[in-house]
Amino acid sequence: MFDVKTLHGTSAQVDQSSLDDLSAALRGGVYCEGTAEYDAARTTWNSIVDRHPGFVIQALGASDVQKAVNFVRDAGLVMSVRSGGHQIAGHAVADDAVMLDLSQMRSVHVDPMARTARVAPGALLGDVDRETQAHGLAVPLGINSTTGTAGLTLGGGFGWTTRKFGMTIDNLLSAEVVTAEGMIVTASPSSHPDLFWAIRGGGGNFGVVTSFEFQLHPLGPQVLSGLIVHPIEAAPGLLAEYVQIADSAPDELTVWSVMRKAPPLPFLPDEWHGREVLIFAACYAGPMGDGEDAMKELRGLGSPIVDVISPHAFVDWQAAFDPLLTPGARNYWKSHDFSTLSSDAITGLLNGISSLPDPACEVFIAHVGGAMARVSSDATAYPERSAHFIMNVHTRWEDPQKDDECIAWARALYDRMTPHATGSAYVNFMPEDEADHMAGAYGENGMKLAKVKAQYDPENLFRLNHNILPA
Ligand code: FAD
Repeated sequence: MFDVKTLHGTSAQVDQSSLDDLSAALRGGVYCEGTAEYDAARTTWNSIVDRHPGFVIQALGASDVQKAVNFVRDAGLVMSVRSGGHQIAGHAVADDAVMLDLSQMRSVHVDPMARTARVAPGALLGDVDRETQAHGLAVPLGINSTTGTAGLTLGGGFGWTTRKFGMTIDNLLSAEVVTAEGMIVTASPSSHPDLFWAIRGGGGNFGVVTSFEFQLHPLGPQVLSGLIVHPIEAAPGLLAEYVQIADSAPDELTVWSVMRKAPPLPFLPDEWHGREVLIFAACYAGPMGDGEDAMKELRGLGSPIVDVISPHAFVDWQAAFDPLLTPGARNYWKSHDFSTLSSDAITGLLNGISSLPDPACEVFIAHVGGAMARVSSDATAYPERSAHFIMNVHTRWEDPQKDDECIAWARALYDRMTPHATGSAYVNFMPEDEADHMAGAYGENGMKLAKVKAQYDPENLFRLNHNILPA
């Protein structure tokens, strides 16, 4: 017998023979504690998330997902959904819930003539980049190749080519969704349009997505990209100039700022390892020569310790930050959106950097806008189109005894930056304790999302997420 949480807050017992019957009906299988599959499924990127589901249903296709949803709904159980397992809040796994594991569904198929890709939900960003780049094509995704495409897309998705090609959701043509009723439907502009609108930013609230169809764009295979590293002491002036460069940048140019203690990168002189630095990370999504011109001003700033901007294979650049964002560390993130970064905001940021609680902690400032900002805020569920910078406080550490110190540091920096921020929030960067930020996450779109939720999931079967309550 397995004790599993029910939708009514009680506990139900599921017997072994029911699980055996379910398992026999699946292409995948059902796995319980003590199996390697169970352990692999419950282990997510953020090691602070250490939870034990009742059992794991591993799906290998939409029919498996349909059977899983029907089983869980009919038994009145609570279910979490895992794709890449990267979400900082760890909603993919919950104690004593059923866990639907899609991580083995990693296929990516590119149609180079139509310039589209069909992507299964377990595909990681690196899987998509490798298959699309084999045809010289790309879809805008995030900056860490081990992130899951499914969660990233359902929350919005932005990275190095968003200013040029839009957010990941702006390039979603259709999706196959298994609804709470157990129907397999296509969501697109012409089929279930409200559902299609809602899954572009509304997260996993409306059903289980079993396939994504993306529009692709010609890019690469090489892009001008790389890092420029400066001493943190020069940061106040440099960041002010950076804001101006970012404001007037062409859509092809994206420059993120990273503040942290310098890792022992091979191209950094030894004496800088472990000292606070400001890093500009830049990528030009266009012809190499145009990129050289567009980056001149940025590369002319101050007296950098190193400048390693050069042509890189796009797939490699997409993985450039992987060594800093490895799985297995304890993580707590906080995020704000900004229209601009005033000198007071820059001072607030740098105060935080002067007291980093662990050498693995860092603050990323993503540069967005461009094509992302030319989509109206009600065109998709993701509402915040006018932000120009998105701060992500990556608080990372290993020792559980440092939990309180590290989390307190992140919260203090977040609070210090609140007066300068727009008040909106990106669900994909929200930790689990930010349920009260859901209004900021969806703004004016919140009401419509609640109505679509009531239409597709009135019982709130899909509740282990940044939850939208049915209207
Ligand atoms: P999972 O943890 O597997 O899933 C998260 C939740 O999404 C699930 O609990 C479920 O509610 C829902 N979900 C997942 N799959 C499905 C599905 N198939 N159907 C229905 N619901 C589903 N975001 C960016 O936009 N840009 C970045 O550059 C970026 N960089 C990141 C770097 C790192 C190191 C990390 C950890 C995260 C980054 N993110 C970025 C945030 C990322 O978009 C989210 O963490 C996202 O949730 C990851 O997706 P996943 O499939 O791995 O998540």
